[in-house]
Amino acid sequence: MRTIDTDVLVIGAGAAGLCAALAAAPRRVLVVSAGDPRVASSTALAQGGIAAPLGQGDSVEAQMADTLAAGCHSSDRRAALRVIRGAAEAVQFLCDIGVPFDRDEHGWRLHREAGHSRARVLHARGDRTGAAILAALLEASARAAHVEILCGVSVMMLRESADERICGAWGADPAGGAVRIEARDTVLATGGLGRLFPFTTNGECAQGDGLAMALGHGARVAGLEFIQFHPTALAVGADPVPLLTEALRGAGAVLLDGQGRRFMCELHPLAELAPRDVVARAVWSRRMRGEPVWLDATEVFRCEHAEEFPAALATCRAHGIDPARELIPVSAAAHYHMGGVVVDVLGRSDRAGLWACGEVASTGMHGANRLASNSLLEAVVCGRTVGRALAQEHDPMRLIRVRAPSEAPAVLAPDAAGAHRLREILGRCMGPLRSGGELEQGARELLALGAQLAPEALIARRRLGLALAMVRAALARRESRGAHWRADFPRRDPACDAR
Ligand SMILES: Cc1cc2nc3c(=O)[nH]c(=O)nc-3n(C[C@H](O)[C@H](O)[C@H](O)COP(=O)(O)OP(=O)(O)OC[C@H]3O[C@@H](n4cnc5c(N)ncnc54)[C@H](O)[C@@H]3O)c2cc1C
Repeated sequence: MRTIDTDVLVIGAGAAGLCAALAAAPRRVLVVSAGDPRVASSTALAQGGIAAPLGQGDSVEAQMADTLAAGCHSSDRRAALRVIRGAAEAVQFLCDIGVPFDRDEHGWRLHREAGHSRARVLHARGDRTGAAILAALLEASARAAHVEILCGVSVMMLRESADERICGAWGADPAGGAVRIEARDTVLATGGLGRLFPFTTNGECAQGDGLAMALGHGARVAGLEFIQFHPTALAVGADPVPLLTEALRGAGAVLLDGQGRRFMCELHPLAELAPRDVVARAVWSRRMRGEPVWLDATEVFRCEHAEEFPAALATCRAHGIDPARELIPVSAAAHYHMGGVVVDVLGRSDRAGLWACGEVASTGMHGANRLASNSLLEAVVCGRTVGRALAQEHDPMRLIRVRAPSEAPAVLAPDAAGAHRLREILGRCMGPLRSGGELEQGARELLALGAQLAPEALIARRRLGLALAMVRAALARRESRGAHWRADFPRRDPACDAR
């Protein structure tokens, strides 16, 4: 067994984790990541970009209005305001560390995406924004003397001290060897949970581990029922399903049904640029009826816009589709989790020593539905907030008394037991269209699955516990709001609005 002692442990090396680590100087930070973040993080996959109110005539108030409208009366206004007010500084920080945001002769080259009332999404290297941000953050971390990154360590359990403070974690290296990490503060930055669904744009890393661990240690969580489905994933049977950025629709691509008709115009005044939940439900319901849905991006790829979408072009070509000539088959896929570990303004959970930022955290900003490109922004702003708060708590003399015995738990390596079945169950009952009956059936099936798991299948049990908590949250919300839509309660209940 290997033991590592650090001051701050950051679990996850995406935008949130790396921003927290960089801002935490002078504290000594160890960042661990289950895989190489250049492939195993959602940050690396982000195409569309980062939303910031930097265009002429744009304002914090305008981005706030769009964010709150998308959030369906559920967003925490103060959290949204803090993040959006921090956007200009966050973009400046990213520029300073070398992110090459696209510009034209007027300044920033801004894009419009669904739910935004104007063009305000910055891209870097066209639709490879996330990869460009991650590369710059990794380079900055390599230059930072206080940051060390350890890839290939999957964290499976948190550690708790005698005074009930979270003080590090147990992890497993690629060979299954136990790694004990002792830390004064622990930051969850493990990203989302899309992999718990059968159709998802998320990679292997997004299993909800951070959230499941926090839940297991009794941290407060919220919004577990709010899963955002992306309306235009490439329907070619791949896993994860490749995403076709929303900015394609912003640039003029339209959705067509099996008869070649545009269907979004009759469903929402913003048509294809309606909030994601509206478009996702429309696409999902047609697919569930067995109808194909197509994205017609031929005009976009025939004109000068084509150069702005290198990733989308490469994705289509890799699957034998020429998007300048052919329609692209699309379906909705689990994409982003609005819920997570509840944190305060500094990113502290209600468990001492445990912090969270990025997709695993619930600041309350996104409410029932995230506005496109607000999540990278939140990851950068809140990651930096956590790091700065940690820096303030610098106390080299603080000691940790560890309550738990120091032997490694019996089973640490990730186990695949029941994973396929769990995905199947969630896919059936927790999609964009839900009903009480299906959710109850899903909960029963999850409990039955739990009864079949061996007691030592620790990771599978924890993920199952998270899945069950999500289904119960969806059952408890007897209304429809944003990403949570129930056939048996199709209206929003104003009594549940955020105050
Ligand atoms: C295909 C795609 C496109 C997207 N496009 C956009 C976009 O254009 N704009 C936007 O704002 N948002 C976009 N998003 C969402 C956005 O990318 C994410 O919400 C954001 O990057 C999350 O950052 P993060 O740092 O919280 O997590 P991530 O970037 O996912 O990083 C999580 C880290 O945690 C590690 N990890 C996970 N579990 C463990 C474990 N058990 N042990 C150790 N390490 C672990 C991972 O390996 C990784 O290093 C997109 C998401 C996807 C999937």
